[in-house]
Amino acid sequence: MISTAPRSDFSITGLPDPRAWASARREEARAHAHAPVAAEATPLLRIRGVTLEYRTPERVVRATHRIDLDIHQGDRFVLLGPSGCGKSTLLKAAAGFLRPVEGEITLGGVPVREPGPDRIVVFQEFDQLPPWKTVAQNVAFPLRAARALGRREAAERARHYIDKVGLTPFADSYPHQLSGGMKQRVAIARALAMQPKVLMMDEPFAALDALTRRRMQEELLALWDEARFTLLFVTHSIEEALVVGNRVALLSPHPGRVRAEINSHAFDLTSIGSRDFQGAVQRLHDRLFEAAPEPEGSARASA
Ligand code: ADP
Ligand code: MG
Repeated sequence: MISTAPRSDFSITGLPDPRAWASARREEARAHAHAPVAAEATPLLRIRGVTLEYRTPERVVRATHRIDLDIHQGDRFVLLGPSGCGKSTLLKAAAGFLRPVEGEITLGGVPVREPGPDRIVVFQEFDQLPPWKTVAQNVAFPLRAARALGRREAAERARHYIDKVGLTPFADSYPHQLSGGMKQRVAIARALAMQPKVLMMDEPFAALDALTRRRMQEELLALWDEARFTLLFVTHSIEEALVVGNRVALLSPHPGRVRAEINSHAFDLTSIGSRDFQGAVQRLHDRLFEAAPEPEGSARASA
């Protein structure tokens, strides 16, 4: 039991049964389908007219153009778009590493101006874990550094989240002794242990083989089912977007603009292969590969 944790209602240990969470998520989807909550409530993370640029001595690269998005508490919000459309840049800005040249990003009504422990980013698997720290030390370290927990409290909370991702037997192992999927689970445990307001993930499973990737998607959704954190997830995979997200924002190629926003809460890993799922994949695919981005001020995409 973690006394300081607002999410100490975790009860399940070990790895989840995929069927159990799938049916739980279908229940959730049914409940949400009739609940107009999200549209009315104040968004947790609000992105308004956000243009992001990189300035090099030679030129200015516009990465995103006037992005508007509302991410609500408990959303699994996916940014989907082709490589180079500004997904990582937008995530960096939401995390506070980059300031918009126009527009504003607010978290809980407060403008985002710098990085903070309430927004944690998980990247692709390589190189995010210091190799000289064990799994337990990797998860506990930021709790002590950024959350200012005592040694015992940090160790206890680390153990709890390591258990969540099924790595208790590897708590004393070093990163090089783990598979790619296991390292990624450590990074997820470390992020969840910080109990951020928003968990941000930038193509976190892209470097994994297909089977491990699927397994990681299952685990992430099972963790979300328990903890109901707010997730901002970046991918260029249409299937992954539909499976992981309850909402998907489709960004146009360079510079990124919001081309479409769709609800995907009806889909989960059991939907893959169904007619509805394939239809949604096809529609997103068509939109992704439509011709040039729409001209300024035009509501219609030029197909
Ligand atoms: P995505 O994550 O969707 O693949 P990025 O956000 O990484 O796209 O990049 C968006 C655009 O910004 C690309 O054209 C990329 O080349 C450019 N870019 C990214 N990082 C930098 C940087 N540090 N300096 C200059 N341009 C950059
Ligand atoms: Mg990227």
